[in-house]
Amino acid sequence: MKIIDLKCAVIGSNPVIRIITDAGIDGLGQAEDSKPYLKPHVLFYKRYILGEDPTNVERVMLKIRRLGAFKPWGSAVSAIEMALWDIAGKAAGVPVYKLLGGKVRDQVMVYNGGVRFKMEGHQPEDYAENMRKMIALPHGFKIIKQGIAFHGGMHTHVPDFFYGALQTGSPHPNRGLLTEKGMNHIIACVEAMKSVCGDRIGLALDCGPGFTVPDAIRLARAVERLNIMWCEDLIAGDYTPYTFADAYAQITRSTSTPIHTGEQIYLRQNFKELIEKHAVNIIGPDPADVGGIAELKWIAEYADLHGILMAPHGTIDGVIGLAAHVQVAAALPHNYIAFEYPFASESWWYEIIKGLPATIVANSLIDVWDTPGLGVSFDVDKATKYLREDDQAFFD
Ligand SMILES: [Mg+2]
Repeated sequence: MKIIDLKCAVIGSNPVIRIITDAGIDGLGQAEDSKPYLKPHVLFYKRYILGEDPTNVERVMLKIRRLGAFKPWGSAVSAIEMALWDIAGKAAGVPVYKLLGGKVRDQVMVYNGGVRFKMEGHQPEDYAENMRKMIALPHGFKIIKQGIAFHGGMHTHVPDFFYGALQTGSPHPNRGLLTEKGMNHIIACVEAMKSVCGDRIGLALDCGPGFTVPDAIRLARAVERLNIMWCEDLIAGDYTPYTFADAYAQITRSTSTPIHTGEQIYLRQNFKELIEKHAVNIIGPDPADVGGIAELKWIAEYADLHGILMAPHGTIDGVIGLAAHVQVAAALPHNYIAFEYPFASESWWYEIIKGLPATIVANSLIDVWDTPGLGVSFDVDKATKYLREDDQAFFD
């Protein structure tokens, strides 16, 4: 079997990848809906993979894996990797999890990091009320993550929140020492959310990036009595092309609150220091940024050997991204907690994609499906109308 074409269409705002073979089998991949600009970057890799046998996934990946970088520049390579596994599974007549070592679990747990209600304000009662709504969602999420401090706008709504000059524009540009008022406000909001969650719903906090090490230690210690699931991306995270493992190690050694990072990191090599230094307790690579699903599996196995847990990022990976998450999560070792549930930014996605269960999440769990490949495909008749002018040949 040979790859004869690589296509990319921007559907809604998700870049969607389609690899076409001479055997009549195609494969799908998807990147985050925040990255419609990726299309030319995806097509850059076409010259390297044409003519290759897509079922030798690793051999194809060796040609392109070095030509990527931290978020957002690992997404194209990652989506291509998903599509290769989709083809390999279809060619073998098995779901992708079989090719990754087989199923460890029949249901995979997900957490809510993106199914949201509008915040009515940024006071403790607003955080509590918003949490109440998320707990009532039909998905029955058992872990809910909320943005606080430099993540989710709190720093822009609370006057005198930190000593730095407020920056706007690019993702998460703010960093600096918190005022005592800012720190007290964060802790009050976390307490308010926790009073709603009780001991039934796990509360995770997406915190930055933007913290200084002393503030990170103070916050993590202050919430120890609340048994938070994790504090995420305090120092580095979204769109930081480095990991700051030593800074994380200082924080992690200073508190019993689990410390989490990793959604922006590309490739296993860039997790090596974090894992070997035990710099965090939980890592959250995103299969649509880290280099793909087998890459995520490698990292999970190595993390497990070091006592580090897995909670992969994924909130805007789209419904093909969801399928990739389900396949790899089924095959991860017992350090797996839950992945961040990707939902479609437009509801018509659920009409144009076939293969998803009618109810995707119940009781915070997804039943792992057994259809070949990633197990999802386009209903071409319904999907065509969502193609942009320059993507009209995507399904040809
Ligand atoms: Mg995050």
